[in-house]
Amino acid sequence: MMEGVPTVPRNAPLPATSTDEARVAAVRAWFREAGRDLPWRDDATSPWAVLVSEVMLQQTPVVRVEPVWRAWMERWPTPAALAAATQADAVRAWGRLGYPRRAKRLWECAVALVSLHGGRVPSDLDELRALPGVGDYTAAAVVSFAFRGRALVLDTNVRRVIGRAWRAEPLPAAHQTVGERAHAASLIPGDDAAAAEWAAASMELGALVCTARVARCDECPLASSCAWFAAGCPGLAAAPRRTQPWHGTDRQVRGRIMALLRAASSPLNVAGHAALADVEPGQLDRALEGLLDDGLITRDEATGRCSL
Ligand code: SF4
Repeated sequence: MMEGVPTVPRNAPLPATSTDEARVAAVRAWFREAGRDLPWRDDATSPWAVLVSEVMLQQTPVVRVEPVWRAWMERWPTPAALAAATQADAVRAWGRLGYPRRAKRLWECAVALVSLHGGRVPSDLDELRALPGVGDYTAAAVVSFAFRGRALVLDTNVRRVIGRAWRAEPLPAAHQTVGERAHAASLIPGDDAAAAEWAAASMELGALVCTARVARCDECPLASSCAWFAAGCPGLAAAPRRTQPWHGTDRQVRGRIMALLRAASSPLNVAGHAALADVEPGQLDRALEGLLDDGLITRDEATGRCSL
């Protein structure tokens, strides 16, 4: 362990120190030089566009999100525009981003924004959290990225950076603890703009430099003070690979059904469709019922045919 580098047990938050402030400032300076020029980071981007980007970016990489986000914002530049469309339109436009429940929730969110907030995205954390599909993380991200406010934006990238640099932990635990949140909160600069920049910068550092599988410490603004780097990056080889089982899973079958229905101009007999003939009937039923339960598709009980 590097001498003088504080280690913080997960349940024992410490107040921010001048060393912390210097480290936060270093990450912010790095971000101004190395941060990606993403469209939703543009100052002119509306809070609605930021909210849409945050929902799309959950569990989906930037490269897949960007074209869909651009098309979505072109078509539905305001919550009112999306609320005037149908849920099926939203699910269809979601394309192959995956986890289509997010499209349904985003449409519901647009409807709620129109009915409760006059079609505007609120800047208040609690009001944001009360919206469909908006959890703690997304609410904080909107406060920070859309309104340049002070909020605890703690996604897996930020957790990994803070865990490694401050506590020499290779990877974040499965669940956040009160202590971990309090420690992360103690690092947020007092000034709103600086706080928003730190949120974006720490997230970007985790996405580009201090990733789950690779730590590019020679490019990192925290290298000289990082607790985990000083300890020799123990445990990196054991970091999980990002290859998630996909082929043959229920999720894959759900994706195939959604793709068929997106492309269809009229209701389909999904269970008997030739394109799904290779799927085991029990699994096909399970996937179909799951999509119906989630409200992503509908089935005409008289004909058994399904549509978005
Ligand atoms: S020095 Fe290495 S391990 Fe530490 S935060 Fe930077 S990239 Fe991550």
